[in-house]
Amino acid sequence: MSTYRITRDIPLDESYDILVAGGGPAGTAAAVSAARLGAKVLLAEATGCLGGMGTSGLVSTFGPVADGKRMLVGGFMRELVESMHQRGSLGPHVTAEFLHTQLNRWVPFKPEALKRHLDEMVQDAGVDVRFFTRVIDAEAKDGRIEGAVISNVEGYRFIRAKAFVDATGDAQLSALAGADCHLILRDNDAVAPSTLCSMFTGVNWDDPAYGEDWRGIDKVKAFSKKQLQKAVDDGFFSQPDRFMPGMNKIGKHAAQLNAGHVFNLDGLDSRSLSDGMIHGRKLAVEYMEFFRKYIPGCEEIDLLTTAPLMGVRDTRRIVGEFELTIEDFEKARQFPDQVAVYNRPMDNHPKDTSEKEYQRFVKDFEGFHGLGEGDCLGIPYGILVPKGWENLWVAGRCHSSDSKVHGSIRAQSAAYMMGQASATAAVQSIRTGQPACDLDTWDLVETLRTQGAYLPQTTLTREMTRA
Ligand SMILES: Cc1cc2nc3c(=O)[nH]c(=O)nc-3n(C[C@H](O)[C@H](O)[C@H](O)COP(=O)(O)OP(=O)(O)OC[C@H]3O[C@@H](n4cnc5c(N)ncnc54)[C@H](O)[C@@H]3O)c2cc1C
Repeated sequence: MSTYRITRDIPLDESYDILVAGGGPAGTAAAVSAARLGAKVLLAEATGCLGGMGTSGLVSTFGPVADGKRMLVGGFMRELVESMHQRGSLGPHVTAEFLHTQLNRWVPFKPEALKRHLDEMVQDAGVDVRFFTRVIDAEAKDGRIEGAVISNVEGYRFIRAKAFVDATGDAQLSALAGADCHLILRDNDAVAPSTLCSMFTGVNWDDPAYGEDWRGIDKVKAFSKKQLQKAVDDGFFSQPDRFMPGMNKIGKHAAQLNAGHVFNLDGLDSRSLSDGMIHGRKLAVEYMEFFRKYIPGCEEIDLLTTAPLMGVRDTRRIVGEFELTIEDFEKARQFPDQVAVYNRPMDNHPKDTSEKEYQRFVKDFEGFHGLGEGDCLGIPYGILVPKGWENLWVAGRCHSSDSKVHGSIRAQSAAYMMGQASATAAVQSIRTGQPACDLDTWDLVETLRTQGAYLPQTTLTREMTRA
């Protein structure tokens, strides 16, 4: 429970059908999907744009969207990525083949373009968006949230709603309401590292080292790995991190860099976050110098900006009606109540700079654990429902899974799909009176299919899969 007390002094704002907390991938998809189904939606976002990590965090690559044979993402996410492709908002090398059929290809995009796409989508759907607005408290009783307190330039406001979607990444609304949550280190001996991502210009992508099309990426990656090892051996870095950062082509001379681990950062501690931002900015300069010195085509590379938001991979997750585990991932398990399917490898980054941790990461990541061509893992409804709650759902990073699976399905592509599913469930709940924790999942799956979700399960059930 929070330390604030909600008092009558806090003015009552309008009432809504659904309050969505957080406008990242999960929250934006949730807000748009609910509004398209006719709900009156308030989307409260702490920053000044939508997209979350993809924009404010400069994590400008969607995790894989296909399984090597077909596109796995459907509904909102498919609409978004295809519209971005048509309008030239993805990396210039992204072809239809790359997008629709490739296994384990991250899809780079221009973050400013994503902001505009999402602005248009929320406006077209009629979502009431409040930027610079943070959800700071909640009033809840017996598994129901009555309302939440938002804070912005107008002061505090109390928002009543029939249903709530927590898409804060940190399960912040759930924790404020008193839902049971797991903190990092529950099933892990070290915190997943954070990374402050950055934007660069001056890359000569026409350098022969990069090859002619996206197929050259693998060659460059292999070469860059060798150069990174050389730089580490040369004592070039203040932090000898063996993890090869992703440098993604997002424009003619532009690149996004996902590099510079900030180890042991606690994303729920403002001091730790602040120290991490300073450390991350220092590392970004070192990586610029590394690329200039060691990588062909990057002699003129220049750092334009680091992200305004720290790239925090993991903080707090709900205790859900169901928890997805590594055993499910390894079996590529399918569920009758799955609301999305996905297949990104477990991207559980090294937790320190040791060779041992680096080898553990490579084994997890490159081993794929059974998710090869044509395989996918089902994302069951119950991982979006805080255990026992009636009008609260989560979506995105704060869903219920163990730390290993989390490294796969925390991806933006999956977060957009979870957002659509949780909002569709919330609208069904408002219309039928079914509580979140006892929703008819047969109807939910069928509604999601009509919205374009790819849900290949052949058996449906009215009850969700439970632990
Ligand atoms: C360094 C890094 C690299 C990554 N690489 C990739 C990648 O290459 N591809 C990929 O697909 N995924 C990647 N991911 C994972 C992915 O970006 C996130 O897991 C994903 O963005 C989660 O989506 P989300 O909507 O749950 O949360 P977020 O993207 O974190 O969005 C949460 C939003 O909620 C807002 N918010 C938070 N608290 C409140 C509050 N109390 N009130 C109102 N608003 C609030 C935040 O401002 C933010 O906009 C990476 C993540 C990191 C950190």
